[in-house]
Amino acid sequence: MALDEVNRDQLQAMVAQLKEALYGHQLWHGVLVRTLACGLPGDKHDISDAANTECRFGQWYYSNAPEKLRNHPGFIAIGEEHLRMHHLARLLLLSAQAGKPIAALDYDNFSNALERLRLEISALERELENSLFNHDALTGAITRFDILPTLRQQQELVRRHAQVCYIAMMDLDNFKAVNDLHGHPTGDLVLVAAVQYLIKHLRPYDKVFRYGGEEFLLCMPYTALAAGYDRIKSLGEGIAALEINIGEKEPVRITASFGLTLLDSDVPAGTSIDRADKALYAAKSAGRNCVKVWDSAM
Ligand code: GH3
Ligand code: MG
Ligand code: MG
Repeated sequence: MALDEVNRDQLQAMVAQLKEALYGHQLWHGVLVRTLACGLPGDKHDISDAANTECRFGQWYYSNAPEKLRNHPGFIAIGEEHLRMHHLARLLLLSAQAGKPIAALDYDNFSNALERLRLEISALERELENSLFNHDALTGAITRFDILPTLRQQQELVRRHAQVCYIAMMDLDNFKAVNDLHGHPTGDLVLVAAVQYLIKHLRPYDKVFRYGGEEFLLCMPYTALAAGYDRIKSLGEGIAALEINIGEKEPVRITASFGLTLLDSDVPAGTSIDRADKALYAAKSAGRNCVKVWDSAM
């Protein structure tokens, strides 16, 4: 799952659910240790073959976890570790129930599995929280603080000939008029619709940053010029075709201009951003709603 496609409220809800699930699991662990230490009869759910689906955490994982989390590799790994941990817990309970002492190795295996499960849950929680922290609250784009670190990382790959990367600066056309005509809150709706369109239509490893106001920087690794140009052009056409519902009779339409350039690994990343900006300026001068590629004459 690309976390970019999940909105802030959904991310916040996921973090809260994971925290609650982890707490529930700690309670379960406390009861299990008490059962083993005091020689009490084990819970039938924990002895069942499907123990991993019957505990509180399992019920959340298999029935109530958010749909958008289900394909995330971290979420899938949690399911595998949880299953393994329950299988080992069941062995401990069966030994105790048969009056046999629990082998130290079996207990250590269980403890290790439990630790790995906690690690997986914490890792996913951290990733969701980072995602919340790094994304602009209004549009869902990545905040500008991440632009330079990301571009420098991409430059390293370019330098090693691992890839060619293009960046594009996008600015909405005549956006002041949208605010003036419909008010700032409606302007916000239009802005969000345009950016969400971009986020949905880029590849999972492309990135959209909010550079400022209604200006956004797109980073497209593993892209050649012709393919990059075509993609940006079709994104521009997609935005122009949006009919943005603002709760009035007529939907609002918006266009965007783009400046495209190669991410040059031989100059500072900021220079490539300046080039994209110059190309964007050329697109505005050429009448807006178009894509211009930077050249040294600009
Ligand atoms: P141009 O085609 O030349 O880009 O014209 P423009 O009217 O879009 O001009 P410019 O890009 O300079 O102006 C951007 C406007 O966008 C000004 C600012 O009030 C508005 N804006 C910036 N950020 C936001 C925002 O988060 N929400 C809303 N509603 N408006 C914003
Ligand atoms: Mg503008
Ligand atoms: Mg602007």
